[in-house]
Amino acid sequence: MNNLADPGVISDILKRHGFTFSKGLGQNFLVNPTVCPRMAEASGAGPGVGALEIGPGIGVLTAELAKRADRVVSLEIDQRLLPILQETLAGFEQVKILNSDVLKTDLHRLIAEEFAGLEVVVCANLPYYITSPVIMKLLEENLPVKAVTVMVQKEAAQRLCALPGTRACGAVSAAVRFYAEPEILFPVSCGSFRPAPNVDSAVIRLQIQKEPPVEVLSRKKFFATVKAAFGQRRKTILNALTSLLALPRDRVAQACQATGLHASMRAEQLSLQDFAALSNALFPDSYD
Ligand code: SAM
Repeated sequence: MNNLADPGVISDILKRHGFTFSKGLGQNFLVNPTVCPRMAEASGAGPGVGALEIGPGIGVLTAELAKRADRVVSLEIDQRLLPILQETLAGFEQVKILNSDVLKTDLHRLIAEEFAGLEVVVCANLPYYITSPVIMKLLEENLPVKAVTVMVQKEAAQRLCALPGTRACGAVSAAVRFYAEPEILFPVSCGSFRPAPNVDSAVIRLQIQKEPPVEVLSRKKFFATVKAAFGQRRKTILNALTSLLALPRDRVAQACQATGLHASMRAEQLSLQDFAALSNALFPDSYD
C-alpha cells in the first residue's frame, strides 16, 4: 500500500503516470499529511458508516476514509485518475470509484444501492468551481445523509457558515441554515495543495437537521424571497423584493408591516425566522 501521507510519494505517482493538473476541474491536490486524517475523523466515518466522497483525486482522503468507514464510494469526473486510483487504493476492498460527474449523479439511487443499512456521511475536498451547486444539491435533495464535511475556499467557508442577521450572510448562508447546522472546523493554508491555489481554505461541517428550524408554507417561495432580498442587498427589502419578485409595492409594504419588519431594512439584518414570516405573509396561498 502506498504511503499517501508522504508528499514525495504523491509527486512520484503523478510523475510516473504522466499526470498533468486540470485547472478547469479544480485539481488542487492535498499534500499536507495532517489534513486528511483530521477531515476523515471529523466527518463521522467509522464502523457502521458509509462515506460518499466527491473528487478523490489520487485518493489521499479516500484512503483515510477507507481506514475508518465500512464502505467508501468516490465520484471522480476525470477518467485519467482511474488507473492512478487503482494503484493507490489497491488493498482497500471496501472502496468503489465511479467515473461520474457529481452534479449529474442520482445520489438518492447511489446511496440506496451502495450504502444499504449504513449511516451515510459526505466528505470531500471539493473542486472549488462547483462548491455552491454541490452543497445545494446535497442539501436540497433531502438525501439520507447525517453530515457533510468539506474543504472549501476560506471566503466560501465564511459565507456558507455565516449567521443570518450578520453582514457576512448571503442567500446561500440562509439556505444552508434552513437544512443544516454549519460550523468552520479548521483552516488549511494554500501551501497544503499542489498546485498551490491563490487563496487559503477551510474545512467546514454541515450537520443535517431532520426538520428545518422555521416553518414555511412554500419552500419555493421562501427561497425566492431570500434570493430576491440578497439579489439587491444594498437596497431596502421593500425595493429589492418589489423589483426582483415583481410584486406590487403595497403588497410588499403590507407584508413587512404584518411581520413587524421595517421596510427600510436590508437583507443582512433579517434572521431566518424573519425571512420565513415574510415569505409566508407575501405568499399566503402558496404551498409545496
Ligand atoms: N480529494 C483530492 C485531494 O484532496 O487531494 C482531490 C481534490 S481536488 C480539489 C477536486 C477533485 O474533484 C479532482 O480530482 C477533480 O478531478 C474532481 N472533480 C472535479 N469536478 C468534478 C465533478 N463534477 N464530479 C466529480 N469529481 C469532480
